[in-house]
Amino acid sequence: MNCVCGSGETYDDCCGPLLARTRPALGPEALMRSRYAAYVLKDFDYIVETTDPDTTHLFDHDSNRAWLAQSSFVGLQVLASAEKGSRGTVEFIARYQRGDGPQQTHHER
Ligand SMILES: [Zn+2]
Repeated sequence: MNCVCGSGETYDDCCGPLLARTRPALGPEALMRSRYAAYVLKDFDYIVETTDPDTTHLFDHDSNRAWLAQSSFVGLQVLASAEKGSRGTVEFIARYQRGDGPQQTHHER
């Protein structure tokens, strides 16, 4: 099957091994795509594991888990990615829907 992140690769060649924890992400874009795939597949633990350690104390597990359960992700567009040392940035737009509500977009860098 094609990977749920929309890369055009197969799931086993893209986010699959990352979500299976058999291979680390090779760069910021791969990490971001795998996090998006985790949202699609509702792998909440993977999202927690890959949250920036500097911000995990701000992460509200219960509300995030509830939010994820009610949301479905319909598309990912990676606009730009850059890597510098061990830090990377990715600019992306994720489209999602809550219940039967209107489609929403989340633009983040
Ligand atoms: Zn993927």
